[in-house]
Amino acid sequence: MATEALREPADPRTRRARVSELEVVRHHFDRAWDSLGLSDDARQIFWEPYREVSVQIPIKLSDGAMHVFHGFRIQHNGARGPYKGGMRFHPEVDIDEVRALASMMTWKTAVASIPFGGAKGGVNVDTRGLKEEELQRIARSLLDKIDKVIGPNRDIPAPDIGTNAQTMAWMMDEYGKLNGHTPACVTGKPISLEGSYGREAATGRGCVIMFEEAAARLGIDPAETTFTVQGFGNVGSWIARAMRELGAKLVAVADQDGAIRSEAGIDADRLVEHVHVGGGKLTEYPEAEEIETGDFYEVPCDVFFPAALGGMVHEDNAPILACRVMVEGANNPTTFAADEILADRGIYVVPDLIANAGGVVVSYFEWVQNLQHFRWEEPAVNDMLRSVMKRTFGEVLHRAERDGRSLREAAFEIGVDRVVEASRTRGYFS
Ligand code: GLU
Repeated sequence: MATEALREPADPRTRRARVSELEVVRHHFDRAWDSLGLSDDARQIFWEPYREVSVQIPIKLSDGAMHVFHGFRIQHNGARGPYKGGMRFHPEVDIDEVRALASMMTWKTAVASIPFGGAKGGVNVDTRGLKEEELQRIARSLLDKIDKVIGPNRDIPAPDIGTNAQTMAWMMDEYGKLNGHTPACVTGKPISLEGSYGREAATGRGCVIMFEEAAARLGIDPAETTFTVQGFGNVGSWIARAMRELGAKLVAVADQDGAIRSEAGIDADRLVEHVHVGGGKLTEYPEAEEIETGDFYEVPCDVFFPAALGGMVHEDNAPILACRVMVEGANNPTTFAADEILADRGIYVVPDLIANAGGVVVSYFEWVQNLQHFRWEEPAVNDMLRSVMKRTFGEVLHRAERDGRSLREAAFEIGVDRVVEASRTRGYFS
């Protein structure tokens, strides 16, 4: 009921897609599978997850009532290395969404050429209004229940929507109680607990690096651009700060509470101060004008960064998007119908599979540092991030231009091809 209400607001421009994320990923996977000419009988091996763990998390909250949450960890494919992916705490988490996101991680790590498979987990909990101590119990309980299937050489969780470095610290601690201190069992940890410099900002920074690559291809000067951001959590707020470093102007921001706009430009640091430090509502930010959430899509800009939930760009708002470039900070923000509308309108789309890979790339660096009990300084991490993102963009662009594909099609083809190749080489199938 709650989910339906969230998915069907009065203004159709602001709803989430009716097509599920699992259907969206299946569509892109099937297209890649067919264009690679792979055999039909092996398709199921690469589409279905290897292992799905679903657990019950009963917690008595401070309202005095017992709440039964559902927790998941889905390991999609491990041909290229240990399973890797985030843990999402959000009321709309369900098993199909986690399946879709786990599969995305498999192709994402493959396109970025980092030695991991793909996984995702989550709990269907609304973290807003929960006490820190309640969140801690949920995080520890989930970890206890999936302990047997994770570990630094098996499956390495990380933050996602609704979780952060603190959540990872609790999970690392819980894993340590059961198995001995093992910092490489999760990534995205606090700096004080063997987290990596640069990890918190990495997904947002990576999106901006991808925008710089796209801008170079299109002959756009990033310093002269205007941009809008949907979602002002970790990814959106770091996109805003990294774009500001390039000299770009933030002209509108939207989140679950509404949207704001300023033609003079919104100061990303002050907005972070207002929302993240001060705990204020986005719509109450004093230095911008509040607008209808649906009107956010129509704000003219050079680049639009969707960095909220999946399914936010669909046939009711793709026709009105007033940008030249869209860089997907979120996972699965765009339905396949919207993809076609954007392509017809000549909007250049940098797809999630490569655009938001910066988070897992720096997770890889964190894991490597933990395994060696070593630490790189932040500039070194950021340089390595840039070189992986540039290489990834270059490989995908090359294939797209060579074969007449969109960047999304090319990225899926490269990802699927590499996973199939690893699987074949291991001797799993011929
Ligand atoms: N949750 C992030 C993602 O969707 C990061 C995953 C990770 O670092 O393992 O890519």
